[in-house]
Amino acid sequence: MRIDDILKGKQTFSFEIFPPKGDMSVQQATAIADELTLNHPDWISVTFSAGGSGNSQHTVGVAKAIQQAGKTQALAHLTCLGSSKQDVDAYVQAIKDAGVQNVLALRGDRVPGREAIDFEHASDLVSYLKGTGLCVGAACYPEGHVESASLREDVEHLKAKVDAGADFLVTQLFFNNDDFYRFRDLLVRAHIKVPVVVGIMPFTSVQQIQRMAFTCGASIPSKVIKRLVAAGDDKEAQRRAGVAYACEQLVDLAQNGVDGLHIYTMNRPSIGRATHDCLLKAGYLKE
Ligand code: FAD
Repeated sequence: MRIDDILKGKQTFSFEIFPPKGDMSVQQATAIADELTLNHPDWISVTFSAGGSGNSQHTVGVAKAIQQAGKTQALAHLTCLGSSKQDVDAYVQAIKDAGVQNVLALRGDRVPGREAIDFEHASDLVSYLKGTGLCVGAACYPEGHVESASLREDVEHLKAKVDAGADFLVTQLFFNNDDFYRFRDLLVRAHIKVPVVVGIMPFTSVQQIQRMAFTCGASIPSKVIKRLVAAGDDKEAQRRAGVAYACEQLVDLAQNGVDGLHIYTMNRPSIGRATHDCLLKAGYLKE
């Protein structure tokens, strides 16, 4: 099923996982996805070498397992820096053969040695994928992409990406919902009308949130810092504070009528369960 069709009928709830890296096997990644489906997500997305992890060869395999289990839809990520049209054609064929109907079209981070071949920006990939019949999503940045000179300039580029054919958008993580609400107003003014799914990542430790802030430019509000200070050096208390904060963010976003709620689970089923349960308790999900 296509994600743009699901988004027409409801406020969606979904998860992101990454394919195996390090010692993890495809079977283990698939078992994580399987456990996450117990929380009835509308889809599970599978990253493509995110953060330069080099595990893109398993994206299709994990997406295929999710799709073929028949409990939810898979959204396969794809980055285009360093890829030729032939590479993209082969990937599209592989996900179609796997029964996957949804792709998230991304540029990928600039890393030395990975230059543009046939695609300079994600909008070029979106436009190329439009002819495939797949539902095509794209990324957006409520605080502006780290490389952009201004949020206004970033929204202009986003408009070009949507005009190229993006069916829906998924946001970068953010810790201050007001940043998202301001961004949503900017999108209305820019006549960007496709559904915008918000991506929320619970922080798990001081080190992890610092890394996030530096890699994706998300600002850390003082209310988050205060909670981390209150947790002190206790790693488990830091993790609990992160999940509780994400749950508060999600309930507020649900209440404010966002199109969909997407959880960056970091392959932890406990995060999927906790976010599901708080939205259920607040009445934004059904059993
Ligand atoms: P683009 O839309 O091309 O934008 C990148 C930058 O270029 C922006 O600053 C934009 O303003 C600018 N720009 C765009 N068009 C133009 C133009 N025509 N002229 C000049 N400047 C322009 N990375 C991975 O490697 N794997 C993943 O699986 C992955 N999943 C992600 C999922 C989500 C929801 C998000 C938000 C990000 C994800 N990323 C992933 C990270 C992403 O690849 C990076 O953020 C990357 O730096 C930008 O990708 P993009 O698709 O937004 O690029």
